[in-house]
Amino acid sequence: MFDYLIVGAGYAGSVLAERLARQAGKKILIVDKRPHIAGNAYDHYNEDGILVHKYGPHIFHTNSQNIFEYLSQFTKWRQYQHRVLASVDGQLVPIPINLNTVNQLYGLNLTSFELNDWFASVAEKRERIRTSEDVVVSKVGRELYEKFFRGYTCKQWGLDPSELDAAVTARVPTRTNRDDRYFTDSYQAMPLHGFTRMFENILDHPNISVLLNTDYREVKSFIPYREMIYSGPVDEFFDLRFGKLPYRSLEFKHETHDVPVYQSAPVINYPNDYLYTRITEFKYLTGQENRKSSIVYEFPQAEGDPYYPVPRPENAELYKQYQALAEQTEGVHFVGRLATYRYYNMDQVVGQALTLFRKLTDNN
Ligand code: FAD
Ligand code: UDP
Repeated sequence: MFDYLIVGAGYAGSVLAERLARQAGKKILIVDKRPHIAGNAYDHYNEDGILVHKYGPHIFHTNSQNIFEYLSQFTKWRQYQHRVLASVDGQLVPIPINLNTVNQLYGLNLTSFELNDWFASVAEKRERIRTSEDVVVSKVGRELYEKFFRGYTCKQWGLDPSELDAAVTARVPTRTNRDDRYFTDSYQAMPLHGFTRMFENILDHPNISVLLNTDYREVKSFIPYREMIYSGPVDEFFDLRFGKLPYRSLEFKHETHDVPVYQSAPVINYPNDYLYTRITEFKYLTGQENRKSSIVYEFPQAEGDPYYPVPRPENAELYKQYQALAEQTEGVHFVGRLATYRYYNMDQVVGQALTLFRKLTDNN
């Protein structure tokens, strides 16, 4: 008899498996329908021996010392500060928009102080910041919004920024200094031997059994377990009872080139050209040396594996119906980006899983 059947071996499922096995002595079966652990953070060495992220670029960053220390039990780290350029008007300029972005784009020589005034002169007044358009135009004005955000967002989400919650584009700040880092969190690092190796360590416990290539629906009726922890899409769990909850998908196109360096930054965003949103070159992220270099393109899609919840009011309403049902479902705990329909980063999912662990063990 297993104490828990855990569905999904990504961050949500794996962190709970580890805590419940190691801290609470529970017996765990964790199943994933994919042929590997680590969920969307899965990385592997390709045929040229280059470490690549199968489901697009994953960079670890957090402000939580607690979450960083928790994961540090399972990996050593490589310090890494992520940087992104955007291809705009035939130039490659830093994104998030900063002092260098504006000076380079317009051939200006503004100081930080002057840029503040410049932004104030072009910003559109908004009574309330409600949408992803409001966030950007109220800070940097319509022209920069059109150049950097509108096209990218339409491609990524299949929606205009005015149809998305403010939180989506608010992930990308605006700066008046020259700081060109993508994130400013106090901890920014990559697992030294990759994410998958870190997950192997997380799941390495005698009380944890891992079953891959298995949809939990194929096994749940003949596996004896007390409770379930579910980290797949919440609407699928309830057979789409209230209708399909929109999740945005991506198609990844991986390539290896016979050059040591392919592009001038770890990630280059293409807000206005092509069908893909960005190209990532993995060696920047991993620090690996190789005479070749592997890259990935991301092509957004409506159909396919669910990767992103789509934050907008009508989806929040629909999710609420599923959430209410989830809360009434005895013996099943919903956790993670797909099961709680939240646009969470890796660290936030770890935090959510640690919180659920405390809740589960406080009750006993
Ligand atoms: P997942 O990793 O999706 O795990 C859920 C698992 O459940 C999957 O492996 C799935 O196969 C399995 N499953 C689903 N249904 C079933 C079923 N019926 N039976 C069995 N198994 C099932 N976060 C960052 O912090 N930094 C980044 O740079 C970053 N970049 C990202 C880039 C992309 C392109 C994407 C898509 C996400 C990125 N993220 C990033 C977010 C990060 O991937 C997630 O926060 C995290 O992986 C979510 O973990 P999870 O356990 O909730 O879900
Ligand atoms: N975004 C944009 N232009 C950019 C970068 C981001 O319009 O150059 C918007 C877009 O809507 C994107 C969101 O900001 O989906 C969040 O960007 P982030 O890089 O955090 O996306 P993720 O890495 O989660 O795909």
